[in-house]
Amino acid sequence: MAEKQDSKKQGIEQDPFILRLQTGDFIRFLDTVTPNATCPSCGNTSFEVISDGDHCMVLATTMHGPSGERILPCFAVYCDRCGFIRPHSVFPVQKAVAELDAAEAEDGVGD
Ligand SMILES: [Zn+2]
Repeated sequence: MAEKQDSKKQGIEQDPFILRLQTGDFIRFLDTVTPNATCPSCGNTSFEVISDGDHCMVLATTMHGPSGERILPCFAVYCDRCGFIRPHSVFPVQKAVAELDAAEAEDGVGD
């Protein structure tokens, strides 16, 4: 049992970069990729990022399959009316943020 918990923990620690996303970058991702998102539970259009202030918290779900267990790390928001939690897998978020950064660098934003 302790061995399984160690390997789960190791799954996240092997890729520590995935745990790092500034809250503002996640908001930029949400505004760009999901600008018309509504809560599937109540239809609200206002969400709060789950963060510790500066950085997003990671919602880690354990996935079970024939090859064993893996962690699926997500950044998430919750509906500020009903509390519905909406997770986004970290990998497409990281990719989209990198693409936004590259596009802004090309446009000279931030100069
Ligand atoms: Zn809701």
